[in-house]
Amino acid sequence: MMSSRKSYIENSRKVVLKLGTKVLLSHFKESNQSQMVQLVSDIAKFHQRGYEFTIVTSGAVGFGMDVVGLETRPTNLKNIQALASIGQSILMQKWHQLFQQFNLFAGQILLTYDIIENRQRYLHARDCLKSVLSYNTIPIVNENDSVAVDELKFGDNDTLSALTSILMDADLLILFSDIAGLYNRNPHKNYEAERISYIEKITSDTYALIDDKPNELSIGGMTSKLKAAERSTQMGTSVIIADGYHPDLNGILNGKDIGTFFKPEKKYEKKRKRWIFFNHKIKGRIFIDPGAEKALVQHSKSLLPGGITAVNGNFLSGAIVGIFNHEHKMIGKGITHYSSGDIDRIKGLRTDEIKMDDSTFYYDEVIHRDNMIII
Ligand code: GLU
Repeated sequence: MMSSRKSYIENSRKVVLKLGTKVLLSHFKESNQSQMVQLVSDIAKFHQRGYEFTIVTSGAVGFGMDVVGLETRPTNLKNIQALASIGQSILMQKWHQLFQQFNLFAGQILLTYDIIENRQRYLHARDCLKSVLSYNTIPIVNENDSVAVDELKFGDNDTLSALTSILMDADLLILFSDIAGLYNRNPHKNYEAERISYIEKITSDTYALIDDKPNELSIGGMTSKLKAAERSTQMGTSVIIADGYHPDLNGILNGKDIGTFFKPEKKYEKKRKRWIFFNHKIKGRIFIDPGAEKALVQHSKSLLPGGITAVNGNFLSGAIVGIFNHEHKMIGKGITHYSSGDIDRIKGLRTDEIKMDDSTFYYDEVIHRDNMIII
């Protein structure tokens, strides 16, 4: 297992680091900020060697609370927005001062949830991150908490870091946390709790190990870290959850047994597929017959109208929809060429029948293979 971990780490060049509020506040309050200086010095060292880093930072609301003297995180959206606007600029100053010592710049990128739903925005965000990197600058990403509203929020930066990993096409995501990894029992309650060094695959048994309790500063917790790890590994990014109070980037990148390593699954080669995967909210359902299921799952074919038995929901061309088999089990997702109304008209028909019938049906496939993932 260690050798497997090592080989993944050795091949990792694009790295996303996520630091949580509790950890950051404790570091930035220290007068010498020695742990942060060490972390940024490690980043600078590996950056010199050709590594690409992106940081997902929490702490906007936390710093805002600190400035105005609040001890408990407010629940009211307007207050959170205001605190984030105060704290975010302080947070960036801190990062900027640290990177300046190593002749690097820190570039602020504030993301909103709609980049998940709108592919154009998603692509712009990706281009922006890439061009920030080209200026010898480390992108520092946070959610745009001052404008985000409840229904349209990532909510926690663990989820945001999983999305950032897709945007960056990252090989490795490191979640520097207030817990030094995943344990076989709650380490706050059991002295005998043992750190789990390697997880081959996240299953319901892995979630059963968690005993989360909310705290007054952060919103993530181990559950959201595990969910982020699950999403990222499914998209081919290795994940490590490690101690953020002593963030040993050098040790991790040298393959040391630090924190918990989550093995990645195979990467989707097409970047668009990763976006489809992340976009978990489907706008409608397409039901297919067993023949079409076989063509999709076993022969990697596109979805043609002939195999469709029913359509459910109201959606336009370009929407992400779920593909369901005759047992009503979701077997895949994809971007549809046709709206729900059009699919209803052409379902069950052969391609040549459609063309004869109506010249506006431009595409042979309802969902092209390149725009589809099988689950
Ligand atoms: N975006 C939030 C902030 O900067 C943090 C969210 C989280 O703690 O996960 O305050």
